[in-house]
Amino acid sequence: MPANQQDKFLLSKILATLGPASSDKSTILRLAQAGAHAFRINFSHGTLEQHEKTYRLIRECAEELGMPLGILGDLCGPKIRVNNLPPEGIQLKEGQILSFTTGTPKEGLACCGSDICLTSNFSEWINEITEGEHALLDDGKIRLRCLGVTASGSDGLVRFEVEHGGKLTQGKGINLPETQLSLPALTDHDYQCVRFALQHDFDFLALSFVKDPEDTQALRRFIRREDPDPVIPIISKIERPQALDKLESIIQVSDGIMVARGDLGVEIDLARVPVIQKHILKLCKEFGKTAIVATQMLESMIQSPVPTRAEVSDVANAIFDGADAVMLSGETAVGQWPVEAVQVMSRIARRANEYQRSLPLSLNLPQKQIEARFGSAALAHGVCTVAADLDARFVILWCNHEKSAYDLSSYHLSRPVLAYSDQDSILQRLVLSYGLQPIHCEQPTGIGGFIRFVENDLNQKGYIRQGEPLVFILGYPITQVKVPTVIHIHYTGEPIPFGQP
Ligand code: ATP
Ligand code: MG
Ligand code: MG
Repeated sequence: MPANQQDKFLLSKILATLGPASSDKSTILRLAQAGAHAFRINFSHGTLEQHEKTYRLIRECAEELGMPLGILGDLCGPKIRVNNLPPEGIQLKEGQILSFTTGTPKEGLACCGSDICLTSNFSEWINEITEGEHALLDDGKIRLRCLGVTASGSDGLVRFEVEHGGKLTQGKGINLPETQLSLPALTDHDYQCVRFALQHDFDFLALSFVKDPEDTQALRRFIRREDPDPVIPIISKIERPQALDKLESIIQVSDGIMVARGDLGVEIDLARVPVIQKHILKLCKEFGKTAIVATQMLESMIQSPVPTRAEVSDVANAIFDGADAVMLSGETAVGQWPVEAVQVMSRIARRANEYQRSLPLSLNLPQKQIEARFGSAALAHGVCTVAADLDARFVILWCNHEKSAYDLSSYHLSRPVLAYSDQDSILQRLVLSYGLQPIHCEQPTGIGGFIRFVENDLNQKGYIRQGEPLVFILGYPITQVKVPTVIHIHYTGEPIPFGQP
């Protein structure tokens, strides 16, 4: 096999946010071809009509390319955002005074006795912030100091002095790290977006601003009410200081975690973020949960076709820290070089994966995963050990339930795990997990037939050579949804012992 054939499979996954720079079909196609495994639709921006269109285009592209593409819906949670700005935005200068009002500015931006009067999607905070506290806008790029609340109630008004200026555009976030806020975990808009995501069979939901496990559970309960047999994985976004005290219990009730460094880096001391990232990724590994690292990974590529050295190192280090997936935000949503950003990320991931492959494997059972000592997790541990000992290049499973694939992924085997299934919805839920390579095929009628099919398939694609070991993990009978119980080593070209077909 040419060395680069196995390299075709990226072990680390790329999640690209779609936005005005990338929601057209030809860009989505090019992003997928450049290496994006899944797309993030951020419900914070745009309308449901736009998201519906984007959703359809992604599914069309997947069909055309013959590859599963995942769709993640990102629920805003109670994120406070600037509301009434002109499309070109406004420039804020140090020392300038501006106000936020709960009412409606009557004369455009200038009203209520100040040159600039802004509104936001939530208004309660205007009555909760107190003098001396700070408001940080656009992931902390702009900093305001509160001069005091001059009116409260439905015509509330709070005045600020600009401490660090910058250009402010529509929809940018407002963080109030020093203020005690009484915001709900899920807003009416979120509930509407969850319904939309379920109706459209999104593959993942992410929830912003999770502060404790109860927030994630509340989303799960709502999903269960809407869909009695829910399958959609929930990714909790860690970006609140309160969440840091409850990490283990949040991870336990979530299917995955996103290290949401944008808001996290504003809500807490930025200098703590790298350590928190490492800690979260380590915990996710111990619990066997999917981990995504997000925000500013290749930020300079919003404007430039090449990244900085620091950004390249950041992406690689997130992978070395144990991330399953790395994410692009503004780079692909609003950047000038969306396809190049995915290409760069894919190149970095490939090199990082090669390095991982060269390291000795440490196959520890996920220490904190409750079911790690029985069932498919234990079998996955065995399979990974066998594959490592044989230096097998592929582990292969028939996947009629994603659990066994997730279990295999959680060992970060640094070799592709080929997950065959006849159900696209299952394949689409595998795309963010380290090492998993979802491949569509028809339901096999027997184990022997499946092994033969895979051998032929890999042979045809030029991925294998004669006599090399393929390690299979299978449920018996293969026609039923079963926890896998069989590990089988098949040397290519050798007879297949299982009955035909
Ligand atoms: P989050 O906290 O969920 O990451 P965000 O505002 O940082 O929210 P991103 O998805 O990270 O949003 O995108 C980065 C920037 O790209 C946003 O601040 C926004 O200005 C822009 N953007 C993203 N998606 C859209 C969209 N659909 N329409 C307009 N602008 C968008
Ligand atoms: Mg962001
Ligand atoms: Mg956020």
